[in-house]
Parts: sequence; structure tokens; C-alpha cells
Amino acid sequence: MINKKFIFILVFIILFPFSISCSKFKILNFRIYNLYEYEGDIKPAGHDWLKGKKIFVDPGHGGKGTSDRFRIGPGGITEEEVNLRVGMILGDMLEKAGALVYYSREKDEDIPLRDRVDMVNDFQPDLLISLHHDGSPRPMDNVNHPSVLIWGNRKVNPMSFAFAELLLDEFNKLMDAKGAVISDFSVYKETGTMILRETRYTCPGAIGEAGFFSDEQHAKRLNDIHYNQAEAEAYFIAVSRFIERGLPKAEVLISSQPDNSSYLYNLIKDADPVIALKVNSGLERAGIIKESVNAALDGVPVKCRAAADDLYFIDYGKRLYPGGHSIKFSFKNQRNQSSMIYSAGFTIEIKKGDYDRLISEGIKFLNTKVKQKEGLKMLLSAYSMGLTDPDAGRVIWNIAKGFNLIADKVNSDYYYAKLYHFYPQSKYAKNLEGRFKGYRFPVEYNGKSLKVIFEPDLKDQSRK
Ligand SMILES: [Zn+2]
Repeated sequence: MINKKFIFILVFIILFPFSISCSKFKILNFRIYNLYEYEGDIKPAGHDWLKGKKIFVDPGHGGKGTSDRFRIGPGGITEEEVNLRVGMILGDMLEKAGALVYYSREKDEDIPLRDRVDMVNDFQPDLLISLHHDGSPRPMDNVNHPSVLIWGNRKVNPMSFAFAELLLDEFNKLMDAKGAVISDFSVYKETGTMILRETRYTCPGAIGEAGFFSDEQHAKRLNDIHYNQAEAEAYFIAVSRFIERGLPKAEVLISSQPDNSSYLYNLIKDADPVIALKVNSGLERAGIIKESVNAALDGVPVKCRAAADDLYFIDYGKRLYPGGHSIKFSFKNQRNQSSMIYSAGFTIEIKKGDYDRLISEGIKFLNTKVKQKEGLKMLLSAYSMGLTDPDAGRVIWNIAKGFNLIADKVNSDYYYAKLYHFYPQSKYAKNLEGRFKGYRFPVEYNGKSLKVIFEPDLKDQSRK
């Protein structure tokens, strides 16, 4: 006969893991049983294209459920526990589909935002998803709708916007009230949210706000594990549809060896290098849309010549002027998926007298109609070498004028405002008194920075 006391102990050992809070499923540091296992109707393994893709899952907040009264809803539900449940179920689905998932947290703990940012930038995911639920200061009005936040705006952040639209679609199907994709500048003006801002050059990302935990009816739903599964499904479908469209990637090739032995970045001796964009649609059977390749050199649009389906030469004119340069570009694949905006920088060798020559010739060209664009390019090159020159105001004044002449009002205003705000003692700034008071700098997005890769055969290829 078995001793009664023994049975009690046995039952206790079996039940103990389940008697503690849902979120603490990792006991003695190994997974006894995944309480967040997905058990719904979707078959993740059928979503083949997710295999090997890197997804960062960030369940918002954590570890402050009892003290953070802004995140406690009716009945004592906390935003952070719901975020965790949905995030873990989503992660389980993605893992079952073969994706590589990195979680910012897998239990109820307080992870500083800075650490989450570092995790994303170390992991280099294909997509970042931050899971949240909203709270309203007027819960008595039954405020409850979804929203999806992206950093900046859709123009500078097209890839995040595309994902956000897909996610919102799924939220809209799940909930009664329809929501919107919103810039995180609407919440934190001037900066946006830290998690999206500090990872914006790494990968596309969005914050999902799947309804309001402050709403009584919704709080009840959020307490139900089946509803949490449905929400995880919404995220999963959005991720899957996004990745199925392909993830475009690119490289920047150059025919001259970039030299980093001096303090100048990627110094190139050849003032007439062949620069090419090597693009990858991220699709197995389709390429990119030829007409969608959009490139600018130092902010001035440049044409691209297709040398092959995946190779585009940058047509910058006869030669590059001495000084620092940056290429910025983006494109779309044939499933209309936009790439991130990319950038790459390098320096063309600077010789004695170049700076003064570029300024005087640049200003002269600016006043000659046929050479306006050339003059603008010369002045931009000069400015890259003389940011703190006491006389820089004159260069910037002429750059602003140059952009105006090529009908680029946004860049023109940007340089005028820069002159007014950053070079206050310049006599040119005085001309602008009043005109740029209260001017807000547009959202600056430098693009995901790419290495410049030396490709010696490029010159021969470009002659073909
Ligand atoms: Zn939140």
C-alpha cells in the first residue's frame, strides 16, 4: 500500500508548476510545459516562406504589474501580462513555422527600453514587433479600437508602413471598431518612441496596440486565453503576408578600393568610379520593378541605368567632386514590397585648393542656367568639407538657392532653415529673419547604412 503522505507529496510535485502564475512557466530554468503553446486552427508549418526569417517579438512593459497604475485595467488586468501572453503565443506560432524568434522577455520582468533596443540591434531581425494594448483617460466612453504605430512617417519608413497596414487589417477583422496606422510622432512629438526610433536603421518595425485594456468589455476578452490566441493569429497572419511579399535587400558596389587608413571615411582615389546598386528582390521567381529604383546623391536625384536585372549603375555625370558624398536609394520588388531606404557614404580625395575652387565655380555655375545642377553639386561637395568654416553661411545660402532652382522646395527650405538656426552669426542668416521662425525640421531619416564593397570588374562591365 502506498503511504498517504507520499501521495500528497507526489500530487504536490505534479501540480506545483501549474499552481503558480501563468507567466512563470520557466521553472528551475527549463521548460516543463509551454503554457503559451498555440492550439488554434492555423497550421504555421504551411507558411513555408517564414523558414529561417528572424523575427523580434517584444511584449511591452513587464515586472511592474502591481505598481504601474496606468497599466491596470478593470478587474485588475494588467497590460503587461496580456502583452506577454499574446507575444509568447505568437512566438510559438512563428517558431512552428521555422522562423528564428528572439523575445525581449519571456516572463514577467522589467527590461529597460535601452536593453530591448540593444537586443534588436544585436539580433538584426527581418522584422520587429512590439506588442501593446492601449489605455484611455476616458474609459467611461468605452473607448476601444486598435492602432498600429510606426516611426516617422510613411515616406521615410515605407517598409514599416507596409507591415503596419497588414497588421491593422487583421486587427480590424478581429475587433468591432476600426483603427488606423499612426506615426509615433503623434504620441512623442519630435522623437517618436524609443524602441522604433533606435532600431529604425536596423529593420522595419511596428508597435501593435490591439485595443484598450481600460475598456471593461475588452478587458474581459483580454483575460481569455482563447482571445489571446486570436490576437496572436492576427499578428501571425500579418507577419506571414508581409514576408511572403519578399524582403528586398541591396549592396553598394564601387570600382575603386575604399581606403579607411586615414580619418576620412571610405576614401576613394578615383574621381570617376563606377558605382552600382546590386539589388535582390527577396523573391525566388521575380525581380524588382525597374522603374521603382529611386536614388539621390547628396540629396540631388540621379538616374540609374540597368546593367542587369539585379545591377544598376548610378549616373552621377562626368565625375564626382572632391569631398564627402552619400548615396541614398530604395526600390520595390515585383510584389510591390518596398525595400528599406538605404544609404552609403564615401569620400573623394581632396587636394589643396579644392574647397575654394568648388565654392567660386559652384556659385558661378549656379547663375548659369545650363549648369545649375552642376553648381549645386559642387557647393554640396564644398560644404561637406567645411561644416564649421566661419564663412559656411555663404555656401549654405547658395545650396538653398540651388535646390530652389531645381524646384526642390523641401531641400531648399531645409538648407535655409539650417542656415538660420545653426549659423546664427552669418550675415546670410539675417536675410531670413522671421521667415523660418517656428520652422520644424522634417523627419530626418538617413537610411539603413550599407558597406561600400570594392568590385574591380565593375569598370569593364560598365563599358559593355
Ligand atoms: Zn504599452
